[in-house]
Amino acid sequence: MTPWLAAARAVGCEIAGRYADDVDAQARFPSEALSALKEQGLLGILVPESEGGPGADIAAVVSICHELGRHCASTAMIYAMHQIQVACIVRHAGPNPWLREFMRRLVREQLLLASATSEAGVGGDVRTSICALDERRGKFTLTKQAPVISYGEHCDAILVTARRTLQSPPSDQVIVVVPRADASLQVQESWNTLGMRGTCSNGYRLAAEGEMAQVIPAPYADVSAQTMLPTSHLVWGALWLGLATEALSRARSFVRTEAKKKPGVPPVGAARLAAAGVELQSMKGDVLSCLRRYMDASASEDTLAGIPFAVAMNNLKILSSGKLVRIVGEAMLICGLEGYRNDSAFSIGRLLRDAHSAVVMVSNDRIAANNANLGLALRDDPEPLA
Ligand SMILES: Cc1cc2nc3c(=O)[nH]c(=O)nc-3n(C[C@H](O)[C@H](O)[C@H](O)COP(=O)(O)OP(=O)(O)OC[C@H]3O[C@@H](n4cnc5c(N)ncnc54)[C@H](O)[C@@H]3O)c2cc1C
Repeated sequence: MTPWLAAARAVGCEIAGRYADDVDAQARFPSEALSALKEQGLLGILVPESEGGPGADIAAVVSICHELGRHCASTAMIYAMHQIQVACIVRHAGPNPWLREFMRRLVREQLLLASATSEAGVGGDVRTSICALDERRGKFTLTKQAPVISYGEHCDAILVTARRTLQSPPSDQVIVVVPRADASLQVQESWNTLGMRGTCSNGYRLAAEGEMAQVIPAPYADVSAQTMLPTSHLVWGALWLGLATEALSRARSFVRTEAKKKPGVPPVGAARLAAAGVELQSMKGDVLSCLRRYMDASASEDTLAGIPFAVAMNNLKILSSGKLVRIVGEAMLICGLEGYRNDSAFSIGRLLRDAHSAVVMVSNDRIAANNANLGLALRDDPEPLA
C-alpha cells in the first residue's frame, strides 16, 4: 500500500466516515475530511517533481477515491473532482510560467480546485460553451451562468470552460484557471438534492477577470479527450465502486447476524448477496481494465484521440453507474427494513441516495447518444485481447 493510500484510509475511517451522516443531513461541506486530506498533503500528489509535487500517477488517485467512497461519497466526489482539474493542468500546462507557478502553489498551499464546465442553455453538453473570454491587452473578463459548481464557496480556484474569443464558435473552447479571489459567485440555485448533498453544488452567476496567461494553452477538445473525460470516468468509477463495496459490506454483516440468530438455516439474503458480489467483481474489473488502458495509452495522443478509446471510457461511466445503482438496491433488499431505516447499523439510505447521482452526473442518455454517433465511425478491426 502506498503511503498516500494509507493516509487516505486513515482519513476515511477516522474522519470522513464519522461525519458522513451529519454532512448528508445538513447538506454541508465535509470540512473535517477535506482539512485532513490537506494536512496529509493529498491534494497535490499528481503534481510532478519538477514543480514540487511527488508526481503520483492516476492509479494512486483512483485508489484514494475508491477508499474514500466507502466512507463518505461526498468527500470522495469532491476529492475526485479536484483531481480531475489537477490532472488537466499537469498534462496540458506546457511551459506556461503562470500555470507552472500555480502547480507549485497548489502543492505548498494544498489548494482545492473546482470546475464550471456545465452551463445554463447547453444542458450537460460540456463540449459547447455560450460564454466567452473577452480579451483586452492580455487580460480577460468572463461571465458564465453555471447551473452547478460543486463546493464553489469552499474552493481556492475554479477551472472554467468558455469559448476562446467572443467571435469563436460554441465548440472552440478553452479552460481558464480562475483563483477564487478573482471570481464573484452570485448564488442562483441552491443544492437541496436527493444525494451527494455534501458536495454543496449550488448554481451561480460566475464573473471573473484575470490574465490571459491563466488560460490552459491546449484546446479544450484535446484536454477533454486526453484527460478530463477519461480521468473523470475513472475516478468516478472508483469512488462508486467504494460506495457499492460499502453497501455490500453492510449487507454481508446483516446476513451474518441473521445466520447467527438461526444456526443451520441459510439466511434468505445469502443467495442475493452472492449474486450482488458477482456484479461488484465485474464493476471492479471494468474500473481496473479501463485504468490499465488509460495508463497504457497516456503517452500516445493518437490513441487517446481515437474513437475506440473514447467509446471504452464512455462505456465505463455507463457500466459503473448502472452497476452501482443495482448493487446498492440489492443491498437494501438484503437488509430489508434494517436497511430502510435511517438509524440502523445496516442503513442503506444515504448510500442509495448518493448512488442515484451517478446516472445523472452527465446523463447516461447523453453519453449513450455520443457513443451512438462515435459508433458510426468505428471500424471493425478487432483489437487484440491481451
Ligand atoms: C453531484 C453532482 C456534482 C456536479 N458538479 C458539477 C460541477 O462541479 N461543475 C459542473 O460544471 N457540473 C457539475 N455537475 C453537473 C453535471 O456535470 C451535468 O452537467 C449535469 O448533471 C447535467 O444536467 P442535466 O441532467 O440537467 O442536463 P442534460 O445532460 O441536458 O440532461 C437533461 C435530460 O435530457 C436527457 N438527454 C440529454 N441529452 C440527451 C441525448 N443526447 N439523448 C437522449 N436524452 C438526452 C437526459 O437523459 C436528461 O433526462 C454535477 C452534477 C452532479 C449530479
